[in-house]
Amino acid sequence: MRLLIRNARLVDGSGELGTADVLVEEGRIASLAGGDAEQVLDAGGRFLAPALTDPHVHLRTPGQETKEDLATGLAAAARGGYGAVVAMPNTDPVVQEPEQVRALLDEARAYSGARLLVAAALTENQEGRRLTPAALLARAGAALLTDDGRTNEDAGVLARGLVYAAAAGLAVAVHAEDAGLRAGGVMNDGPLAAELGLAGNPPEAEAARIARDLEVLRYAVRKAAALGHAPRLYVQHVSTARGAALIAAARAEGLPVAGEVTPHHLTLTEEVWRGFDARFKVAPPLRTASDVEALIGALERGELAAIGTDHAPHTAAEKERDL
Ligand SMILES: [Zn+2]
Repeated sequence: MRLLIRNARLVDGSGELGTADVLVEEGRIASLAGGDAEQVLDAGGRFLAPALTDPHVHLRTPGQETKEDLATGLAAAARGGYGAVVAMPNTDPVVQEPEQVRALLDEARAYSGARLLVAAALTENQEGRRLTPAALLARAGAALLTDDGRTNEDAGVLARGLVYAAAAGLAVAVHAEDAGLRAGGVMNDGPLAAELGLAGNPPEAEAARIARDLEVLRYAVRKAAALGHAPRLYVQHVSTARGAALIAAARAEGLPVAGEVTPHHLTLTEEVWRGFDARFKVAPPLRTASDVEALIGALERGELAAIGTDHAPHTAAEKERDL
């Protein structure tokens, strides 16, 4: 079966490659210069790109399938142009044992949507105290380790986690917010939060935690080098100009860190809160226009490495609760 996609603007990781007529034969690209085909699709100048990878999604299997399950989550991802997604482990129960990782990967094979990659917890029940078995989780097929959904308060545990994960060939991803500074904040802390009378979550909560985690990484790299391992840190959903600048500086000096940014932190600001709509309550919170500008710049310069959606379905009842 041959498919011809005409008038497509080709885009891949290297940038925009111009307009082409793409001929696909038996599922493989055969030509960029057209040809005979049974099926012809006019792209009308739209972008055509390889399937995307989403490094940060919350599918709700196991335990919260009323919100979403593996089948619907992977189908929705494929529909949105994603070929693979990395599912976070803050499910019920938490994904932290090798058998759970294997079971999820086995189940996903039955579905035709995006490919599932499984992130397992870094610590038991994501409580930040006792490490999960990194080597066994890696052998079961875990793609990375993270306590996302929770923050890693104990720097010593995170440092050991980075070393053990490195020995197993895995990176560690962190939700970098200082829990004490964040406290009960529901939106970005600043003049607008004061004006609206809402509790603020300060940008410093993120920056302080990223700064600490970069020092933890520096320490882990030094400790692991003696053992021949190379820890890698992935900072999820960076939302502040300061956080992005800290990561850029660390990368410039060669620390093995990569930062992620979400579509909502690239396109929305705290100004949406003037409507008091709880749908805009996200963690970390939407920030200011100058943060958005800085994040876009960091992404363009390659200082932030990836866009992750932080896709996280909730029930209508949950969204209707007060702020
Ligand atoms: Zn998170």
